[in-house]
Amino acid sequence: MFSPIDRRAGVTSTLAQPSALLQNETLNFRARRSGASTKDFMNRRQNASLTLLFGAIGIVSTPIQAAEHATITLYHHVSESTPASTSVSPAIFRQHLDHLRDDGFNVMPLPELLEALQERRQIPDKSVAITFDDGYSSIYDTAFPMLQEYGFPFTLFVNTQPLNDSMSGYMSWAQVKEMGDAGVTIANHMENHPHMVDALPDEDTAARDQRLSAELHRAQARIEAETGQNHKFIAYPYGEYDLANKAMLADLGFMGIGQQSGAVGFDADFLALPRFPFGGAFTDLNDFKQKVQTLSFHLLNVDPESQMTQERNPSLTLQFAAGDFNYRQLACYAGSQPMQLEWLDQEQGLLRVSTDQTFNSRRYRYLCTAPMRGTNRYFWYSKDWTRSTPTNQD
Ligand SMILES: [Zn+2]
Repeated sequence: MFSPIDRRAGVTSTLAQPSALLQNETLNFRARRSGASTKDFMNRRQNASLTLLFGAIGIVSTPIQAAEHATITLYHHVSESTPASTSVSPAIFRQHLDHLRDDGFNVMPLPELLEALQERRQIPDKSVAITFDDGYSSIYDTAFPMLQEYGFPFTLFVNTQPLNDSMSGYMSWAQVKEMGDAGVTIANHMENHPHMVDALPDEDTAARDQRLSAELHRAQARIEAETGQNHKFIAYPYGEYDLANKAMLADLGFMGIGQQSGAVGFDADFLALPRFPFGGAFTDLNDFKQKVQTLSFHLLNVDPESQMTQERNPSLTLQFAAGDFNYRQLACYAGSQPMQLEWLDQEQGLLRVSTDQTFNSRRYRYLCTAPMRGTNRYFWYSKDWTRSTPTNQD
């Protein structure tokens, strides 16, 4: 069992979650690399050297490197008068956009990003897609003009019923259409913002899935009627999904997007893609800088696959493919508490993580990070858990 001992000064201070450097001198195993990935890493190293060289002599500030990973940001409100936990202030939002512009990020429309990743086409390093959930007024009033000023594409996931009802605090369909006509991607966040893992009283799983499928189609039809857009992906309300939800999306030819934090890559689960939410305590510029430049682990297996659990601290088994990180620097957290790491098979990259800490909330999160060799960037994976009633288990 590892014990986290040391915090890396100057790196971990910028992380929202403390990242401990794992030090255990009794375990000395090496990261395994395939031939292809070794070549890729060598290219990346060479490119990194060129970046340093050209950066230093001022010829090229941000040469484009090919990559197979990106990040997706998630916002709700850009306002100082909306609930703090889901809001960033306009001033902080501008800092985020300044950073993306000034630090050479490639801001991509989400449909292009997802298509490239799914087709395993390389994209520029430091690519990011900006998304908003819920169709709140401040997205149209404040975020939209700012994003136009920077020329950044973005995606709005809209739950359609509040707009149908002209509910206060939400934008109007005319405003959504105006944004769509200006190039904003408008996509599905269901109609009534349901907890998709929950059945209604007296509803069995089949009836639940029928209801959700009908709701998804109504929202999709309304978005298409209002904007002409028909993208095949949804953002799960609350970031909650179970295996039946994923199977439903797969049947419909949709991708699913969650709210668990992490980077996306070629080997992502396209039925449960991670995003980095920003709001409340997680709006600080240093936190943003660290997260938008993260990389995705290639996980060969996640057990259990489902996020649904009746437990308050389930153990989780992860199988990591080799990457440009040192297994000994892998650290996992339950909330902010370091977890216990137990290597079941080092050669196979098989790791079990567990914690004594118990969670009483409906949703909670485990996080695993590892620094990318020779950089201040992190590989980042998180597993969200949702506790629900026994009848709603997968
Ligand atoms: Zn939402």
